[in-house]
Amino acid sequence: MTTPAPLPPLQAPRKLKLATVSLAGCFGCHMSFLDIDERLFELIEHIEFDRSPLTDIKQVGVCDIGLIEGGLCNAENVLVLREFRAHCKTLVAVGACAITGGLPAQRNHMDIGAILTDVYCTRQGLSASCRIPDDPELPLPLNQVHPIHEVVHVDYFLPGCPPSANAFWTFLNDLMAGRTPHLGHGLMHYD
Ligand code: SF4
Repeated sequence: MTTPAPLPPLQAPRKLKLATVSLAGCFGCHMSFLDIDERLFELIEHIEFDRSPLTDIKQVGVCDIGLIEGGLCNAENVLVLREFRAHCKTLVAVGACAITGGLPAQRNHMDIGAILTDVYCTRQGLSASCRIPDDPELPLPLNQVHPIHEVVHVDYFLPGCPPSANAFWTFLNDLMAGRTPHLGHGLMHYD
């Protein structure tokens, strides 16, 4: 494996607000973001985290950048996405699930009712009293999983499954310096 070339120092004219959220994703994109490791210390010199699993803030505030992991599989995902769009100046679809629906979209060729019945009622080993969960607090599933650009305007797409830590770093560096992000071939891969 080749060692990646050193990246330029992070540049930002002022401290920016950044929010992140995982919708129908596996948190792998967030974990890859954290793989920037000690560069996180440099990052927080330039940005302040708003809503994110890193802060546990539940409501997104007014932000410069919103990073969205995951697509849309239920009604709550749509609400959260619309909130992010309304509060974030720049919205980024991060990873294959946000960009295309990704792995969760594999259910799109099946009937959602049939899937729920199979998983909760008829699968071998379930008791006769099993039923599809219907607590009113549970978000209603959508018939299909959608990429986020089908519901809101997306400013940038950061591809990968997940995008690598260096891809996150380069992307944010460009964005915070006011440049159009450019990853180049070496930073775009799916593994
Ligand atoms: Fe997980 Fe890949 Fe989807 Fe990111 S793009 S949430 S790593 S499955």
